[in-house]
Amino acid sequence: MAIGSSELATSLGSGYHLPAWFTMSITASNITKRFGSFVAVDDVTVSCPSGQLVALLGPSGSGKTTLLRIISGLEAADTGTVRYETEDITHRSAKDRHVGFVFQHYALFRHMTVFENVAFGLRVRKRPEAEVQSRVRELLRLVRLEEKAQQYPSSLSGGQKQRIALVRALAPEPRVLLLDEPFGALDAKVRMELRTWLRRFHNEFHVTTIFVTHDQDEAFEVADQVVVMNKGRVEQQGTPIEVFEHPANAFVIDFLGNVNKLPVRVEGGRALFGEKSQVELPTRMLSPTKDGLADAYIRPHELDISRSPEGGNAMRAQIVHINPAGSIVKVRLLAEDFGLMINVDLTLERYRQLGLKSGESVHITPCEATIFPVDYSI
Ligand code: ATP
Repeated sequence: MAIGSSELATSLGSGYHLPAWFTMSITASNITKRFGSFVAVDDVTVSCPSGQLVALLGPSGSGKTTLLRIISGLEAADTGTVRYETEDITHRSAKDRHVGFVFQHYALFRHMTVFENVAFGLRVRKRPEAEVQSRVRELLRLVRLEEKAQQYPSSLSGGQKQRIALVRALAPEPRVLLLDEPFGALDAKVRMELRTWLRRFHNEFHVTTIFVTHDQDEAFEVADQVVVMNKGRVEQQGTPIEVFEHPANAFVIDFLGNVNKLPVRVEGGRALFGEKSQVELPTRMLSPTKDGLADAYIRPHELDISRSPEGGNAMRAQIVHINPAGSIVKVRLLAEDFGLMINVDLTLERYRQLGLKSGESVHITPCEATIFPVDYSI
């Protein structure tokens, strides 16, 4: 069963008196990890301030899970240090680090009831029965699954299992919480609901959390800070707005997706696009770009459509498809002179004002382009 919005509204509101969390910052410095001759994590430094939620974001194989396992103590780094606050815990076992871990595949104990699953970490630590009872009930109430206490995991939906996995990890009051694609196995709708839920949950608990995902939307919606990884290295760490508005390089802007990429020639600080008909793009030069070949990145909302060529930098294009569903109208066009498909997002108001039809010829005007040298691959 998915979590309804009314359930969300009440599930984390108030009334729970959980202990103030003993949470701490995490710093992994100059971490390198090889598997044979393959470098999975290459001199990486990341930090997660106390009480924040940091997302490790990157394509498959970029080293996110390996880094998370090193931070948790499940894997040993070849070089580098891991600190919780100022304490060097590089050589401590996972057990001694007091980490809460949640994986993509629920990993609940199938032969134990929901209650006993959540109680597990407390029983291992031989906590008094009265404390186990009150704490588990409190946590189950928090995730609105009290009525499932005596059932077995097989009777829960995927989303419910992940909520149980999360409170099971939280029950022994870990110093940090590490989540590895916790919603990866769930369908899109439940994923969306759980990410909203996780954010609210985090706002309530403030446990320092590192969250691995390859889903940009998930990272941007949930995290205080995003670490973008590629090929075992960190491309950028910053708040979602910093990373979105000031991508450090071509990899970051491309990986964040939903961007038009145009091959350009840079000449004396001007970005020129096209051979026969040449267009000068209005630019935001984020890195010093030498004269020569480069790529211009333009997000769909940074383009406008008009019926006549406006200014000196309009491109003729034919409308191929219009998707008017939603508050933003998505228009796909073919710029024939340049042999390029271009996506433009228009407000509903602008779309209605223009009265666009599929198949007709119009002009596209770029408002702002970000230029990076051609020097990376995903
Ligand atoms: P995904 O999103 O697919 O889980 P990831 O970014 O989490 O990817 P990792 O799982 O950290 O990436 O893997 C990074 C690289 O290290 C991959 O190429 C992987 O094949 C390799 N790797 C990871 N663990 C091992 C291992 N135990 N032995 C050999 N190679 C490994």
